Formats: sequence, C-alpha cells, structure tokens
Amino acid sequence: MSASNRQVVVIGGGAIGAACAYYLCRAGCTVTLLERDRFGKGCSHGNCGFISPSHVLPLAEPGLVGKVLKSLFHRKSPFRVQPRFDLNLWAWLLQFARRCNRTHLLAGGRAIQPLLASSRRLYDELMAAELTDCEWHTQGVLFVFRSVVEMEAYAESDRLLRDEFGVASYRLSSAEVEAREPALKPGMVGAFHYPGDAHLRPDKLMAAWRRALEARGVTIREHCPLTGFVGPGDTARAAATPAGEFPGDAFVLATGAWTPLLREAIGRSVPIQPGKGYSITMPRPRLCPSLPLIFPEHKVAITPMDSGYRIGSTMEFAGYDATLNSQRLAFLRESAALYLREPLAEPVLEEWFGWRPMTYDSLPIIDRSPRWANVWITAGHNMLGISMSPATGKLVSELITGQPPHLDPRPYALSRF
Ligand SMILES: Cc1cc2nc3c(=O)[nH]c(=O)nc-3n(C[C@H](O)[C@H](O)[C@H](O)COP(=O)(O)OP(=O)(O)OC[C@H]3O[C@@H](n4cnc5c(N)ncnc54)[C@H](O)[C@@H]3O)c2cc1C
Repeated sequence: MSASNRQVVVIGGGAIGAACAYYLCRAGCTVTLLERDRFGKGCSHGNCGFISPSHVLPLAEPGLVGKVLKSLFHRKSPFRVQPRFDLNLWAWLLQFARRCNRTHLLAGGRAIQPLLASSRRLYDELMAAELTDCEWHTQGVLFVFRSVVEMEAYAESDRLLRDEFGVASYRLSSAEVEAREPALKPGMVGAFHYPGDAHLRPDKLMAAWRRALEARGVTIREHCPLTGFVGPGDTARAAATPAGEFPGDAFVLATGAWTPLLREAIGRSVPIQPGKGYSITMPRPRLCPSLPLIFPEHKVAITPMDSGYRIGSTMEFAGYDATLNSQRLAFLRESAALYLREPLAEPVLEEWFGWRPMTYDSLPIIDRSPRWANVWITAGHNMLGISMSPATGKLVSELITGQPPHLDPRPYALSRF
C-alpha cells in the first residue's frame, strides 16, 4: 500500500504526537489523532520551552547518585522521591544509578545528539513555513553561576560538550555576564553561553501545531482515550476507545508519561516513570531577562517570553500524584530570587505541573510494539521532548511509510530494556 492511501491513528496530543501526525501527513497519510483529555494540555503545555541542542548529556552523570541522595534529605532540593513501596520505581532508580558513569554518559550523549541536532534544524524550517506565533527566539541560553566551585565543576561538562560533541559555547566572566544580562543581581561569578539553543512559548507551539494539523486535514478527537487495539492476530485493525473504534493501517502511541499504563495494549511493560516538574507563569517583570537562563546550582530555568515570564524546574518521583506541592513552587520562587533583581511579577497567571516521561537512560523509545506489527511506540522523551519532537515525528513517519530513515533508529529500540 502506498503512503498516500494509508490511514494512521496517532494516540496522544502532546508535542511528540503532533510532530508525528504532521510528518505522516506530509508523507501522504490520512491521520486521525486521539487525545484522552485536551490536545496540548499534557507535559507539553507549561514546560520551559527551551530547544536545546546543547543538552546532549544524559541525566545520569558521574557523581549524581551521591548528590541526589544528599538532596533527598534537604527540603530545598530540586529532586524528590516520594517514599513509597513501588517496585517499578526502585528498579528504575537502581538502573539509573548504574548508569552514572562516564562510559554511559558518552554513549547516551551520542544517541541523544542526533535527535536534538536534527530537530533544531527542522524547527528552523517549521518556524519559517508552518508554525506561526510561537514566540520563537534564537539567541541561545545562558548557564549562570553564583559559586566558583560549582562553575569550575560545570566547566568539565562544558569541555566534554565541546571536545566530544562539538557543542559551541562561550565562557563569560563575572563582569561580562553582568553587562550581558542586567536582570541578574551583581555578584554572579560567570556564565556559559550556548548560542545554538533557542526558545519558544510551549502553549503557543501546541496551538500552532493544532492549526497546522487541522489545515492539513488531520482529525483531532479530544476526550477519546485509547483502551486497547483490536486484532486479528498480530495486526491491529482499530484503536478501541469509549467513543468507538478508529480503524487504521498503522498506529502511533505518543502517550508520554502515561505509556506504562498501556502495558496490555503494548504487550510488555515499559520502564518510564513520571518525573514531575513545576512551573509558575507571570507577566514579564519590568527588568526581565533578555535571554533564557539556567541556574545549574539549583536546577532552575527562567524563560522570558514575549507575552510573559516563566520559572520552571524540579524533579519529583511521586507516581501519578496530581497535586500541586506548595513547597516545590516555593523552591522555584526562592531559587529565582537568589539570581534575579526582579524574580517575580504579579499576578501569577498559572501554577502548573507536568509529568516528564523519564527513562533511566534518558533516551526515548521509538520502536514497534512487540505485540502488534503495525503499532509504533514513541515515548520517553524525558526532559527534552519539545527539543526532540520534530526529528522524532520525521523518523516515525519514515519508519511507517518505508522511507529511508534520516537517523539511525537502533539506539531507541525497546529491546534495550
Ligand atoms: C517543568 C518542566 C520543564 C520542561 N522544560 C522543557 C524544555 O525547556 N525543553 C524541552 O525540550 N522539554 C522540556 N520539558 C520536557 C517536555 O515537556 C516533555 O518531554 C514533553 O512535553 C513530552 O511530550 P509528549 O508528547 O511525549 O508528552 P505529553 O505532552 O504529556 O503528551 C502525551 C499526551 O498523551 C495523552 N494520552 C495519554 N494516554 C492516552 C490514552 N490512553 N489515549 C489518548 N491519549 C492519551 C495525554 O493526555 C497527553 O496529552 C519540561 C518538562 C517539565 C515538567
């Protein structure tokens, strides 16, 4: 069957599902997108909106286990594991800890980089032609430090990024960072500027995806959760939902942090944990940063947007707990106040959390389901799903329509787990 008369059902209306639907349409498929809740309201809604080809290194880095263990006992810490009996979580954490070494760091980085680099290029094309009004900016991102010790420790990672991965960066002195970003308090010890990074407003990105998809004829069905697939044999004929069956020749599961809940449909478990992060969105302060900022000492990010300003971060392993933790939100405010002259503005427009789809090796899964020959899984984009989505969508479309893949899909195979 040629791509032009192929029917594809994409399940999940986040950045990954949207990009898959888009590239499948461009390849000539007829696409229906099913979303259990509302399109674009999952983790892709209130994140920091960084498009970060510089974020090549996996989360599991040498020395991290000690730091995380110490921070677990510290109320004001970006990491938190809610103590509870959950075998899947403890197995995940153990596997994560086993990867905190240089060998895995480099191997992980080599598998992450192609998705990031290709996506960054594709974003330029998409922003020029297809996605409008996303508050897209390309001046890079600044990593800012208050402590000499922390900055020198980070300089090792920066060196690795340059030497092993060719990531461009500039080191700024205390005086240079003060001149470059007057919104920062005086006394910062320095910064690293990554000029190849970009940023956008994520809710506007999702609105732009929706306009682009509907203009190309994609049917978006909201409040339509997938419950399973209907056979015969190992070929899925339709996606089953409470609103009825949606027939297709191929199916794409882009269900983010919810993917492990679809174990029956997939045919095996997938080691994805929801990694809860928070953000607070406000109007722009009078003295608003001109560049997006990351404060690595506190793992907090600042996104200056044309129409607002956002503080975001924290990593909480608390299962599918859907409460807004006021201590986590206070941590964001207090961290921003250490660095910025005007860290907050009134009124608060949104306090938000999202579940990042976290795998223990920081790599997504882009592979066929072991149960169904025509069901593809694309989930587990960790902390970089916005940054990786265009290349993921293009790769999924190439795999489904039999085009030569523009990236080697093998590092993202489900069989690695
Ligand atoms: C605080 C924070 C800051 C972040 N900052 C950045 C950043 O700066 N840059 C970056 O690249 N990434 C960032 N991320 C990570 C990024 O947000 C995620 O990696 C990305 O949104 C994941 O996209 P997704 O499409 O896989 O998941 P989602 O956006 O969560 O979409 C999955 C969708 O699937 C739907 N779904 C689930 N189950 C079903 C079902 N059974 N049937 C139908 N639909 C279903 C869900 O309702 C949801 O809409 C951040 C995350 C957080 C929390």
